[in-house]
Amino acid sequence: MTLDKRLGQRFLPYGANYLDWSDLHELREAVGHGVLFRYQTEDESVASRLERHAAGRLGSPHVLAVHNCTEALRLALISTCPRAGDLVHIPAVTFVAVAGAVLSSGLVPVLVDVDDSLSLDPALLPPGTERVIVAHMEGTTAPLPDGVPYVVEDCAQALGAVLPDGRHAGTAGYAGAFSFHHNKVLTSGEGGLLVTGDPDVWARMRSYHDHGSARVPGRYPTWRQDAHYGENLVTSEGVAAIQLQQFRHLDELLAGLERHHRLAMEAVPARTDVRVLPRAAGDVKTSLRFRWESRELRDAAVAALTAHGIASWTLDKYLLPEHPVLTGRRSLYGDGFPWNLAPDGPLALSRDGFARTRDLLGRTLCVPLSPELSAQEQALAVKTLRQLLEAV
Ligand SMILES: *Cc1c(COP(=O)(O)O)cnc(C)c1O
Repeated sequence: MTLDKRLGQRFLPYGANYLDWSDLHELREAVGHGVLFRYQTEDESVASRLERHAAGRLGSPHVLAVHNCTEALRLALISTCPRAGDLVHIPAVTFVAVAGAVLSSGLVPVLVDVDDSLSLDPALLPPGTERVIVAHMEGTTAPLPDGVPYVVEDCAQALGAVLPDGRHAGTAGYAGAFSFHHNKVLTSGEGGLLVTGDPDVWARMRSYHDHGSARVPGRYPTWRQDAHYGENLVTSEGVAAIQLQQFRHLDELLAGLERHHRLAMEAVPARTDVRVLPRAAGDVKTSLRFRWESRELRDAAVAALTAHGIASWTLDKYLLPEHPVLTGRRSLYGDGFPWNLAPDGPLALSRDGFARTRDLLGRTLCVPLSPELSAQEQALAVKTLRQLLEAV
């Protein structure tokens, strides 16, 4: 395939995926066993192997595989045993799934404004804050608040990231949630992982995710006298097998992103009205984030890249204060649950009504990095990008 074609195909932001029959050993094995339900037999399931592998790779003692990251976030919140209507602080700039996970848990989201790097600004959290979801967007590790009992790290876009203190993203708070959706770092189409350092919390999560049961693998579930209700969030062996296979490529993928990022930083456009937002050493560099001097210049850059078939995207879609799900406060429940439990007044914390954030988002442009390209191809891609951006 020509480079133009390969670059043109990268219309989705992240993730090279490694969908090649010759590489799908774990899936062949699962199908060979003739068992796609993880608790069907007493043998170690593929899902358990995935959890064991992820625990080792992510440095977290306890991992639970679920269907997607939204489910993982919801399970993390429910496992804190909240009261219906409790507040959960979330970033004002993130994918709407974060708000959906809060609301569908019967909790009420409060939007917290972001800092220059577009991560939740912990300085805005009021004393006594109990629950926060922090999102590491596009692999940029976000600062974590101190003194909050339940910090859930949304690592949907940050599989493999390392925090400045050396801990793996997802392992520094109460729980961490990961996604294997199509456009994430690695993909099994849909797929999620939930990690926690606390064995009791893990046991609660595991029970809830299997109908509140105390199941022993290979047997029909049983319920203790003190059982609570749960749901069925149990993953399938087929999806787990693909996640495990994808995991084999994580380090190679991270190295490809690092290399593309380094090449790009050596060749940023020579102009004073645009800069590339810095990336920390442990960040997963899925994209280059350009900050332009004006929205007009940013939009002109989008047009130039689009005209040349080069993928790019803006982050305007992540501005939750303007998202209909938040502004409309609607719900499918007849009584508006859980919005009907929300306190009076705005559910937002910002110094300036999100004016600065709106301005930052309007001037930000992201260009994907392509880990699967060779160094030579990456250098060529960087050169093309530089030429196009210099001409804006
Ligand atoms: C994709 C995404 C989610 C949801 O993940 P799913 O696996 O699709 O449910 C949550 N948070 C962020 C930041 C995301 O990008």
